[in-house]
Amino acid sequence: MAAQGEGAPARTESGQFDAVIVGAGFAGMYMLHRLRALGLKVRVYEAGEGVGGTWYWNRYPGARCDVESLEYQYGFSDEIQRGWNWSERYAAQPEILRYQNYVADKLDLRRDIRFETRVISAAYDEPAGLWAVETDKGDRVSARFCIMATGCLSAARVPDFKGLEDFGGDWYHTGGWPHEGVDFTGKRVAVVGTGSSGIQSIPVIAAQAKHVTVFQRTANFTLPAGNRPLKPEEIARSKETLLEDRRHARETPGGIICFEYNEALAEEMTPEAIANELETRWNQGGFAFLGAYGDLMATHEANHIAAEFARAKMRASVKNKEVAEKLLPFDHPVGVKRLCLDTNYLQTFDESHVDLVDIREKPIERISKKGVVCGGKEYEVDAIVFATGFDAMTGALLSIDIKGRGGAALREKWAAGPRTYLGLGSAGFPNLFFITGPGSPSVLSNMIVSIEQHVDWIADCVKRLTEGNIRSIEATKEAEDEWVAHVNELASETLYPQANSWYMGANIPGKPRVFMPYTGGVNVYGEKIAEVAAADYEGFQLGA
Ligand code: FAD
Ligand code: NAP
Repeated sequence: MAAQGEGAPARTESGQFDAVIVGAGFAGMYMLHRLRALGLKVRVYEAGEGVGGTWYWNRYPGARCDVESLEYQYGFSDEIQRGWNWSERYAAQPEILRYQNYVADKLDLRRDIRFETRVISAAYDEPAGLWAVETDKGDRVSARFCIMATGCLSAARVPDFKGLEDFGGDWYHTGGWPHEGVDFTGKRVAVVGTGSSGIQSIPVIAAQAKHVTVFQRTANFTLPAGNRPLKPEEIARSKETLLEDRRHARETPGGIICFEYNEALAEEMTPEAIANELETRWNQGGFAFLGAYGDLMATHEANHIAAEFARAKMRASVKNKEVAEKLLPFDHPVGVKRLCLDTNYLQTFDESHVDLVDIREKPIERISKKGVVCGGKEYEVDAIVFATGFDAMTGALLSIDIKGRGGAALREKWAAGPRTYLGLGSAGFPNLFFITGPGSPSVLSNMIVSIEQHVDWIADCVKRLTEGNIRSIEATKEAEDEWVAHVNELASETLYPQANSWYMGANIPGKPRVFMPYTGGVNVYGEKIAEVAAADYEGFQLGA
């Protein structure tokens, strides 16, 4: 594996590129590859020391994908997929990061990436038609195109707990885990947060620590992932079918083909048929459960059947019935917060050294020198793990000072919620693209499928502009307004807006409550963006 740029001397650069890409996760890496193939001079800036994005930062114990490995990989190159063998149904973080480094080696990506460099501002210089990009290392470069591959779940968030600075032990956020790992042997550990990261990490931390106290604000729906080693024949088969599978995946709502959505509505099915569907899909593991019938995510009545089923399964997984009840989610429909997949999460609470503290009614008051204080009680611990999530979808983008036409700030434009056309661009910000931006299927899908969909669209668009000698592309305000209204309308036809989820920005105090992703599905969305491109970028203004 080539060096990651670790320890490289700080160098600053100036000069002009055809394109600047911010971020070197799955999105930035593929974007670089596509733009290079067009002959463009490209610079990528990445805050981390290496490629990988999510999988570079989230090294917490138990981290693994929840879309199956055979689908959670690039699908653009037969050579790449043939050169890689996944070991498990849901690959663990180290394996995914190794895969990303394998791709970076194979495509020789690192020579155009500046690591340990954070982009702090990007301003559109209207007369020159160029983006002026500045980094925290003092680089000042310009580029015709600026592409944000900054990630939807990359701005890790530690809540503003009073007293954290006085805590005498060590604390960690799952989204910024130390590279050398953490040894919890003999330690008393507090884990705050029971979303996917908490649910994945708690059983693994508990297997090592002397004592674990889990602070739960919202119980989540979780189902067994059913992880297992992949069989050689499964791997071999996938190599023959991956490219075709990927085409098929783009024709599905979630960009996933390992299960199909049942289109029948709950009321059209007998109770036995519903129970069978739910049972089969529960046992299958993964998101198949949410596809048991057509209106599961659309009506309370239909959703309630699946939620009751899930609660019964969850209840049966915990011997201590009092604790089991606390672990059951009653305050939101199933699926409207990201469904969690686990390995022995619920069972962990039957272990004598694992305690659950329900903090819904009595939130954490403060962190003391010795531990966590809530409900008037101090829980003494040696370490705290914050599995408290991210400022999702807009956090990383808006931490950059982005100024468009007339010096208008994106932060101000999006103060009441993100506004994009197709999740790809925003009016007033010419030649600025978002990969898996708000207003696109993004986090509701197999994200690698959505990333490739966007990267391909952006690369084709850049090609069209370059070949046509067209200086700029910019979403029109009308098209953007219509798209925002459409995205909101679709979301309002689902149950999604009914939970305090990060999809809604509800986990960040003061963040506007807007359902950010597009719920219409990868397939419908893919057709829409293809039509837009075929109509010479209808809804965008092309500048001569
Ligand atoms: P990221 O991987 O987040 O990369 C963005 C990069 O941009 C980061 O490295 C960041 O450092 C960099 N960056 C941001 N701002 C700046 C800046 N200003 N300057 C320089 N660099 C910057 N999705 C799925 O579909 N299936 C899964 O199984 C799945 N599992 C997940 C597990 C975890 C723990 C998490 C947190 C997310 C998971 N996701 C999953 C979502 C995941 O984020 C995407 O699948 C995918 O990895 C996103 O790739 P990306 O390149 O768009 O963004
Ligand atoms: P998350 O889903 O946002 O969960 C954060 C948890 O922290 C929630 O339980 C939240 O409670 C709690 N929390 C936040 N602020 C708190 C506070 N002030 N006091 C007490 N509790 C607080 O974050 P995440 O678990 O990191 O997951 C984010 C997303 O990343 C996932 O939804 C998924 O898309 C992706 N992910 C995927 C996997 C995977 O399985 N492959 C693993 C990890 C992450 P509330 O619910 O009450 O806000």
